[in-house]
Amino acid sequence: MDTELQSFDPATDEVVAVVPIMGLTEVTEVVRQAHEASSWWRAKGFKGRRARLLAWRRYMAQHAVEIIDLIHRENGKPRPDAALELMLSLEHIAWTAKNAAKILGPEKRRTGLLTANFAARVDHLPFGVVGVIGPWNYPLYTPNGSIATALASGNTVVFKPSEYTPAVAQWYADAFATANPEAPQGILSIVTGDGGTGRALCDAGVHKLAFTGSTATGKAVMAACATNLVPVVLELGGKDAAIVTADADIDAAAESIAFGAMGNAGQTCVGIERVYVDREVRDQFVAALERELADIRPGEREGSSYGPMTMPSQAEVVRNHVRAAINDGAAPLIGGLASIGDRFISPVVLLDPPHNSAAIQQETFGPTLTVTTVESVDDAVAQANDVALGLGGAVFAKRHGADIARRLDTGQVSINSVLGFAAIASLPLGGRGDSGFGRIHGPEGLREFTRPRALAIERFALPVNLLSLRRPEWVDRLLPRLIGWLHGR
Ligand code: NDP
Repeated sequence: MDTELQSFDPATDEVVAVVPIMGLTEVTEVVRQAHEASSWWRAKGFKGRRARLLAWRRYMAQHAVEIIDLIHRENGKPRPDAALELMLSLEHIAWTAKNAAKILGPEKRRTGLLTANFAARVDHLPFGVVGVIGPWNYPLYTPNGSIATALASGNTVVFKPSEYTPAVAQWYADAFATANPEAPQGILSIVTGDGGTGRALCDAGVHKLAFTGSTATGKAVMAACATNLVPVVLELGGKDAAIVTADADIDAAAESIAFGAMGNAGQTCVGIERVYVDREVRDQFVAALERELADIRPGEREGSSYGPMTMPSQAEVVRNHVRAAINDGAAPLIGGLASIGDRFISPVVLLDPPHNSAAIQQETFGPTLTVTTVESVDDAVAQANDVALGLGGAVFAKRHGADIARRLDTGQVSINSVLGFAAIASLPLGGRGDSGFGRIHGPEGLREFTRPRALAIERFALPVNLLSLRRPEWVDRLLPRLIGWLHGR
């Protein structure tokens, strides 16, 4: 059995890192250290944690070139895209560090008439140790969404990165330790390996598990966590749709949708994979999209629009979806099967595949886009919602954008933009259906990594104590009348 695995530059096959494959024994030991570090981290309080999270963020910003280069080499995306990923990650760390106290501090609650002698409050307590399992497509930004919120909420974290991007994860955890030299080992730790290591993390004694990855693996993780009643938050795949209405700014919509579909080689959970465009503006939109994508090229050189497929096997999924759509009757507008190489895939746009085609129903996770002509907004909304995945979406409209967005059955929607919600640190992120449940980012993300504890504090004794075995008989006789008076009117 292999004891080590290598990560590679997906453009050149050059080895980037060699890391151990950790099994249950090693993972359990790392989780034990995280338990030990918990009381130190919790005792720092919101103020102490804020200072340390901001020191970490400052360190990463000061060493940006290093991590941008590592993301570029291990994931394959162009350096400017890696820089954008770092920038968004730092925004999220800053927001959670600065807002945790306000959102998670003790909350006063009102009491009722019968409990007027009580004060009531809710404390938001950390779980203890949070396990995080992450994917490779945004090796920093995606796990950071869970890690930063879990840390700011007072948990320690054990992070299992994808086997394709362990070096980025190690750099990220080392940055925390270097920026906070007095912190004990175990505040943020990495366990490396393959799917078996992720499975081991579910069994290693964590108090909550945040998983980001495919729907199939998410189900396996939830089943594994059920054995020990470990609660999970699942951020899974997407099949996001953009709706383009007759009154939309067509050129702006085409520019945004081209980015949302092809950026990061389409390997974005909230990337745009489907467009529903009103028949009235369909030809205009298609022409604008052709102009937008005319000189978009993948490659490894500086200036390439996007990089290679990070995970080689994904090219086969993309090929299957494109082939099936064409066989089903879709017309290729841009590219086709010939656009799909082993590492690099040029943009593919397919017109009007049937609704049951894999290219419409399943996550493709490549630089492809379907464009479907619709007769009305109702038609667009119905088709956009009729898939099992419900992560994000976009609406392009001058009027009624918000009304249409409210009808999309997804966790988040951008209006007249794509992916805007992922860049706003105060907004929650999460899905419905096969895209998972629970939320990371924003106040909802901070609360996701805490458990509420109710406190009822008796401030003074009432002449009659209802919560007593020595209740006078006349009070017991009065109770039914009191019920009628309080609730029966
Ligand atoms: P996978 O589901 O293949 O893997 C995700 C993580 O789970 C990896 O670290 C993987 O390890 C690990 N893993 C694999 N098997 C198991 C197991 N049995 N138990 C525990 N952990 C396991 O997803 P990808 O890495 O391919 O990521 C792409 C997917 O992630 C896409 O579907 C994308 O939509 C989704 N995603 C969702 C986001 C969201 O916010 N909703 C954000 C970003 C991506 P290893 O790699 O070593 O096998």
